[in-house]
Amino acid sequence: MSNFNVAKFGGTSVANFEAMSRCAAIIESNPNTKLVVSSACSGVTNLLVELANGVQDQARRSQILQQLADIHDSILNQLKEPSEAANQVYGILDTVTSLAEAASIQASTKLTDHLVACGELMSTHILTQLMKERGINATRFDIRDVLKTDSTFGKGEPELETIAGLAQQSLVPLCNEFVVVTQGFIGSDEEGNTTTLGRGGSDYSAALIAEAVQASGLEIWTDVPGIYTTDPRIAPKASPIPEISFSEASEMANFGAKILHPSTLVPALRHDIPVFVGSSKEPEKGGTWIRHKVGSSPLFRALALRCNQTMVTLRSAKMFHAYGFLAKVFEILAKHKVSVDLITTSEISVSLTLDQTDTAGGAPQLPEAARLELEELCTVEVEHNLCLVALIGNNMSESKGYAKQVFGTLEDFNLRMICYGASPHNLCFLVHESVSKLAIQKLHKELFEE
Ligand code: ADP
Ligand code: ASP
Ligand code: MG
Repeated sequence: MSNFNVAKFGGTSVANFEAMSRCAAIIESNPNTKLVVSSACSGVTNLLVELANGVQDQARRSQILQQLADIHDSILNQLKEPSEAANQVYGILDTVTSLAEAASIQASTKLTDHLVACGELMSTHILTQLMKERGINATRFDIRDVLKTDSTFGKGEPELETIAGLAQQSLVPLCNEFVVVTQGFIGSDEEGNTTTLGRGGSDYSAALIAEAVQASGLEIWTDVPGIYTTDPRIAPKASPIPEISFSEASEMANFGAKILHPSTLVPALRHDIPVFVGSSKEPEKGGTWIRHKVGSSPLFRALALRCNQTMVTLRSAKMFHAYGFLAKVFEILAKHKVSVDLITTSEISVSLTLDQTDTAGGAPQLPEAARLELEELCTVEVEHNLCLVALIGNNMSESKGYAKQVFGTLEDFNLRMICYGASPHNLCFLVHESVSKLAIQKLHKELFEE
């Protein structure tokens, strides 16, 4: 294991000159920080996704391109020697312009990845220059040369052995000399096409890079001082958690706590790399340590919310006392590459939710061909506008009485697809989007506030 520390900065942390300067100060404060992983400046990826989805209206396209130029110009204008970084950024903006035009004619997932990657490519040019101007021996590295994935555009699957080999070859020697600034979120496939790891993927990139260079620490710097008992934007009385186990934090990320991309902790866990989550705005406030062993394992740890859920209900009288029905259902879903997240069953029906989609965003869809094939077997009902609420904790399946407390608090809500008892770490259910925040607020008040 090296003594490298990897520091990742999210979009709001690199939103403008002042924010980037705070990142530089954090980097300066830890001499072991040899690798800096940056997101695109706040708002940039959303604009790029809009372009990638195909904007036919020329005026709207120009407006977005102007917004992108303004965001980056405002930082470049505050640099002492902006010319080199500016040239690079303007070159990338030219690429964005032509790709946006191409996407307005015909959008594709491959084109989307090429386009949305431009956000991180631009922010890292600026951050590197800003760090150099503060006297940091910084250099920019294009992570696509190391972070190799398969060709699943929008949700690239990292190729771990290749990444480790390339990182040892090219990244580690560079880190011995410089503080290396590189991009989160993006990678490339075998043919050199740009890929992405899905929205919010910079956390995952940072963890993959930390694993590949065998780092001794991973810091995720964001806009809140750590992981809270729930999203503080939903429940203002949510409180920070000083220390949390990998399994609890993974459950939170998996169940939608936006603070961490769902896959972030997998590489960190594999290599036992401690992870710190803190606020780049208020580093003095400390944050959350994610570790293997923690001092306390409370029954209730946190609440997570994941919206944009698609629920599919399959009903058939033939399912009653029959065998092979579920096998057929899953065979059809597998054939059409439909990934299932949650599942509940009764005698004659099965409900399931579909896994989240890729970088292009939106609610996951049941492909028409899969639907048609399923309809030969049973009736198919698809519902949208649902959110998944998850209560995360410890030893929940062995504890008595808490379900009554949870469901009692939510007796006025229509809860769907309750999953309870399958995991010792969580209880979860779906509610309609319109009442999802209220459900979180009520539960938080009951379970986490005095
Ligand atoms: P970044 O751009 O730094 O990656 P994100 O917006 O992706 O930041 O994630 C940080 C946000 O995650 C916070 O502003 C907060 O609203 C949200 N969030 C959701 N769940 C939690 C939680 N349990 N604790 C803290 N923040 C949370
Ligand atoms: N910029 C990307 C996004 O907004 C990746 C990230 O910030 O993690 O999704
Ligand atoms: Mg994020």
